[in-house]
Parts: sequence; C-alpha cells; structure tokens
Amino acid sequence: MDTPLLIDVITIFPGMLDGFLQESILKRASEKGLVRFRTVNLRDFTDDARRTTDDRPYGGGPGMVMIPGPIFDAVDSVRTPDSRVVLMSPQGQQFKQAMAADLAREKHLVFICGHYEGVDERVREALVTDEISIGDYVLTNGVLPAAVVIDATVRLLAGALGHEAATEEESFAQGWLEYPHYTRPANFRGRKVPETLLSGDHAAIARWRRHQALERTMARRPDLMEQDGQGES
Ligand code: SAM
Repeated sequence: MDTPLLIDVITIFPGMLDGFLQESILKRASEKGLVRFRTVNLRDFTDDARRTTDDRPYGGGPGMVMIPGPIFDAVDSVRTPDSRVVLMSPQGQQFKQAMAADLAREKHLVFICGHYEGVDERVREALVTDEISIGDYVLTNGVLPAAVVIDATVRLLAGALGHEAATEEESFAQGWLEYPHYTRPANFRGRKVPETLLSGDHAAIARWRRHQALERTMARRPDLMEQDGQGES
C-alpha cells in the first residue's frame, strides 16, 4: 500500500479538531491507512510558564499577534523537504477544487492555524509554501478553515469514498456544476422525478445529466463556463 498522506495541524486549539477527524469519511480514510492526522499543540513549543503564543503588535493598534518563535519551532519539528506548509489566512489564495486535487497528490501537509489578528509576517515570509483563504470573510481562528481544506483534500484520495466516479462528476471537478439528483419515491407530494431518469436508457440519462449540468452552470455560475476544459473552478 502507498504511504499515507501525512497531515499535521498546528493550532492552539487542538480540541477543535477531535470530533471532526473522528467522523465519517475522514475517520474511514484514516482507518484505511490513506491518511494520517497529527494535531500539534502550539503551546508545547512555548518557553515561558504562561505558554505564551501572542504579543502586542509593533506600531500599536488593537488585538494581539501570534509570535513567530513557537510557530517556527512547531513547523521545524514536523517539516521534511517534501512538506507543503500551508498558512490559513483570509488574505491567501482562494481555495478551489483544483487546489484540493493538487494537495491530494502531496506526501505531507502542514497547516498553520492563526488566531487573534493573525501571525507575525515573518512566518509567511520564511516558512510558508501556500497561503490559503476559504472565502472573503473573517473567522476567529484557522482551525475551521484548515478543516475545510483537509476535508476537500482527503475525500479525493484514491479509495477514500469507495466509489471513485463520484468525485469525477461532482461540481467543479470538470469545470461546471453537477446535475440535480433524485431518489425514491418517484412521485413525492405530486412532484415527479423526470421521466428520463426512470427510463433505464443509460445514454439518454447521460445526455439529460450533461444538459442539466450545463444549464445549471450557465444560470448560476457562468464564470465557470469561461474556464471550461481547464478542470478548474
Ligand atoms: N487580522 C486578519 C486580517 O484582517 O486579515 C484576520 C485574522 S483572523 C481573526 C484569525 C485567523 O483565522 C487567521 O490568522 C487565519 O488563520 C484564520 N482565518 C480567518 N478567516 C479565514 C479565512 N477566510 N480563510 C482562511 N483562514 C482564515
């Protein structure tokens, strides 16, 4: 079996990851040996009795900034020449499906989760290979953003979902949104499932789905169509 993807998450809130890593697809991927998670408590790399990880910003202003020392030491404790070191930041490159696919091809991912006003700029300058934002809004710390990136990445590992085609047809995988889904009953409170899906005609079903996917993408996300064929969203 291939070596599992190793994922380290550096945070002052290791408890926030516990439930998330122990449920559903992530738990199963870990049990199958596809991925290995380690939570790194940043406070273990502090050198004072109060286990300080932040300080006041030079130049003044509100809030606190995460000091570089513990972060450098924590990253050094896990990093190898193959590691991608990802800083979660609202100022980073916006996370997309293509980035998840790219990260899923790596051997080792290290996530740095900020808090307060964020991290000392020298962390970004000297340690980080990728700076990722999950969207144009500000959360209180980087654990939830890291969890979003981890989930999107791990479910793309071969064998994680158990049915490979599922990720190939999903929204964004091919540059458009997925077609609508229906399940039983065929008639729910007068709302009927489209006839084609009940026909058993696989070619017709494929055509219907393709048409729906394109129509839906044109209506909701025409910007994706401009990138059609690049496998990007
Ligand atoms: N002062 C920073 C700014 O204005 O850009 C925001 C810091 S935020 C309150 C604290 C931490 O949460 C960040 O260092 C980052 O790790 C994480 N974070 C917040 N929003 C995020 C987002 N949209 N994407 C990725 N990480 C985010």
